[in-house]
Amino acid sequence: MSVSTAEDRHIGIVGAGTMGAGIATSCITGGLPVTLVDSQSAALMSALQRIRDALAAAVSKGRLTAEASAAAQARVAVTSDMAALGSADVVIEAVFESLQLKQDVFGELDARCRPDALLATNTSTLDVAAIASATTRPQDVIGMHFFSPANIMRLVEIVRAPQTSSTSVARALALTQRIGKTGVVVGNGFGFVGNRMLYAYGRENQLLLLEGVAASRIDAVLEDFGMAMGPNAVGDLAGLDVGYRVRRERKDLPDDPRYYRVADLLVESGRLGQKSGRGMYRYEPGSRARHADPEVDAIIRAEAQRLNIAPRAVSDAEIIERCIFALINEGAAILADGIAAAPLDIDVIWCNGYGFPRARGGPMAYADTLGLGAVYDGIRRMAIEHGARYWSAAPLIAELAAQKSTFAAWQAARTGHSAR
Ligand code: NAD
Repeated sequence: MSVSTAEDRHIGIVGAGTMGAGIATSCITGGLPVTLVDSQSAALMSALQRIRDALAAAVSKGRLTAEASAAAQARVAVTSDMAALGSADVVIEAVFESLQLKQDVFGELDARCRPDALLATNTSTLDVAAIASATTRPQDVIGMHFFSPANIMRLVEIVRAPQTSSTSVARALALTQRIGKTGVVVGNGFGFVGNRMLYAYGRENQLLLLEGVAASRIDAVLEDFGMAMGPNAVGDLAGLDVGYRVRRERKDLPDDPRYYRVADLLVESGRLGQKSGRGMYRYEPGSRARHADPEVDAIIRAEAQRLNIAPRAVSDAEIIERCIFALINEGAAILADGIAAAPLDIDVIWCNGYGFPRARGGPMAYADTLGLGAVYDGIRRMAIEHGARYWSAAPLIAELAAQKSTFAAWQAARTGHSAR
């Protein structure tokens, strides 16, 4: 490796929206100069205001001194001219989630950036290899998937595409660490690790809604289990339209009229979440406090009737099992696919990026404490009650359950030492 990871300092960011501004804030507070580029000058102005606000909030919470805040502010330069990225060591792209747009941006970065620059994309779902294919240097292209709000959330999924070099992985990890975040290396597949598992977990939440369980009850039960926020509150916070747009782009959705039907209907009726004051819940102007909304219950009831789904009595235990076993089962499939290298990586991702209770160790550690035999039996029971479409136990769970083994022991056998 000829490139020293200690040398990356000047960070370029393309796209000054929600994520670009948050990533810029993290970099400048970490002492790194940033050039923030956006094609819209209005976006640059509002990013500067958001950076100022984030720094002021950090000062008022005692996380940053006033001097450090002023020094950080002085480290950011904004421009609409991509040529300004010619001297950057690392460029992080955070434009809209469109493959065509990202390929155009990477083609331009390829032409303008130094030959030794690291080119990173903050895509949440797109194929990093397809983005890299727009350049002549796919070995230097990597995913750095930050979480929102990027200046607060510690997790970064470092996405290694087939052609990404080890040097690029090392540089991305070093940068992540330098700005006080935790990087986990993951493989390049839809949703990487965190969002792929989120889809399975969210699917069960959505089905429970159609079966007549109130959003507020699902959230309360999962929050009692220890999740920082229930899935319906999270959907409203992130914006229901984000997942909606991703589902429109996907070609591999299950042929199931119930699949994310409630979320799609709400988006189509203008209920996007907190940003529009109405989503799964209703919000008063300027407040994030959730209020149950009878209008949502009526929309769901009518749709369930249309789909011939009768309301059922669902216990709290079933709510937890359906959502959490879906998470564990998808996690096991991800391990078998090699998209995550270790169960511990999945646990770090879920505890740091998705509010899984740390006290339970993460979904895979929690599965070990339940016993994989119990998880396997639970998934088989679910298959009988709800059909095999979504409830087929991952082969790794079946295998480890038969051996009365654990994910931790499986990992230890592979690496020769225990990861926990
Ligand atoms: P956003 O809509 O807030 O901002 C995107 C910005 O990109 C806009 O300011 C737009 O003017 C700018 N832009 C578009 N085309 C451009 C171009 N050719 N050159 C320069 N600037 C251009 O989007 P966001 O929510 O910050 O998301 C950005 C990326 O981060 C997406 O890929 C998204 O999937 C990913 N992401 C988002 C979140 C989230 O919660 N918002 C979380 C993780 C990852």
